[in-house]
Amino acid sequence: MTGKLLFDGDVVVSGGGLAGLTLALALHRAGVKVAVIDALPLDTQADIAFDGRASALAYTSWRMLEQIGVAKHLKGQAQRIEDILVVDGRPLDGLKPGGPGVDNLHFDRREIHPREEGEPLGYMVENRHTRIAAAKCAHETGLPVFAPRRALSMQAHSGHGVLELDGGDTLQASLIVACDGKMSRLREGAGIRSLGRRYGQSAIVLTVEHELPHEGVAYEYFMPGGPFAILPLTGNRSSLVWTEKDAPARAIAALDPQGFQEALEARFGDFLGEVKPVSQVHVYPLGLMLAERFTAERLALAGDAARTIHPIAGQGFNLGIRDAAALCEVIVDALRAGLDPGSQAALTRYERWRKTDSAALALGTDAFNLLFSNDNTALRHARGLGLSLTNAIPVARRFFMRTAGGETGDLPRLLKGEALSL
Ligand SMILES: Cc1cc2nc3c(=O)[nH]c(=O)nc-3n(C[C@H](O)[C@H](O)[C@H](O)COP(=O)(O)OP(=O)(O)OC[C@H]3O[C@@H](n4cnc5c(N)ncnc54)[C@H](O)[C@@H]3O)c2cc1C
Repeated sequence: MTGKLLFDGDVVVSGGGLAGLTLALALHRAGVKVAVIDALPLDTQADIAFDGRASALAYTSWRMLEQIGVAKHLKGQAQRIEDILVVDGRPLDGLKPGGPGVDNLHFDRREIHPREEGEPLGYMVENRHTRIAAAKCAHETGLPVFAPRRALSMQAHSGHGVLELDGGDTLQASLIVACDGKMSRLREGAGIRSLGRRYGQSAIVLTVEHELPHEGVAYEYFMPGGPFAILPLTGNRSSLVWTEKDAPARAIAALDPQGFQEALEARFGDFLGEVKPVSQVHVYPLGLMLAERFTAERLALAGDAARTIHPIAGQGFNLGIRDAAALCEVIVDALRAGLDPGSQAALTRYERWRKTDSAALALGTDAFNLLFSNDNTALRHARGLGLSLTNAIPVARRFFMRTAGGETGDLPRLLKGEALSL
């Protein structure tokens, strides 16, 4: 081998996207010897041209970002979500929340967090701000970051794994974690198969400014082509996730500014006054992917490398944060007990902890999308009934809010807002 050994420690994280950086920061803060690598420089990923999305972060995810020092860099950039309004929309009806004949489901955070300044249902943050905040944290805490460096492959040896980079350099650790996204090279290299399919839908994503304040309300309208979400950002701005079948989505995104404005107004309606785009328009083709296993010898998958889901419930990154919280706890517990954090026992604990939740959400969002993304009359009646019934039953509303907030099952300590350290 001609390259240098750049790092020798407990954990190497391959992929410094949202999930990878969250995991690496959590491990580093806990005292674990960890390094992260990414194919792109971290500041490229903070550019709006790179990722125009904003993410709804569940309140348990936010607790973890507070614990690992990322949230403090997001002051003034995170918008509290106080209410979520789910509406079974109609094509060309315009959007009339709460209007006559429209089936609504209203989630109000005061039902689960009643204090005046209690936790919101979640926070909306533009991904680029989260990336900048995480990169600042990495810099100020001295987390070893190797970027831009591309991982080519990973070799498992007895007692450690070796990550090979382009140019021949290597990093080695007891455990390698693949956070290299849905096309994960390390997942494929380890022979882990995945199930999945394309939805034939794409999400048109942009930021809009509107005349009236959104009051922290997130709206999700179910339309035949797919959900149309208006998600509150700081100021009088919202992030739109406008899902359509692939061809119409591409055609809408390619409209000239005036044509796009007309299409936007027809879909958005005027309940927030005048609306106009204030960002580039991005198009994301949507698909489902679920890895058959989340681990292999000396390897764990986390974030989109483990599963990629429909954004209908805004849970993809939240699942990555839950992976990071659980894996961090497994690694810290193993090291505290003097055990090997990359052993089969540690990997089995991680896989058991994360796989069921992932499969449930991946398949749940899949079914939800199938049920709601159509204009079938019988299904529309059934959906309306479902929304009204859920809306009428407080215990059902609270269950959905807690589930979306990530407060289900065996909650890792970081998601409870507790610190982890060796
Ligand atoms: C339209 C849309 C809206 C969404 N909204 C929400 C939402 O509201 N809430 C939510 O929780 N989730 C949401 N998601 C999902 C969320 O965006 C993803 O789950 C999340 O970005 C995945 O992060 P990741 O770090 O796992 O993967 P990625 O962001 O794909 O990061 C992978 C990283 O690995 C690096 N990499 C890849 N290959 C290599 C290699 N060989 N060597 C080195 N580095 C490599 C890449 O450069 C990249 O930085 C949405 C998704 C879409 C499409």
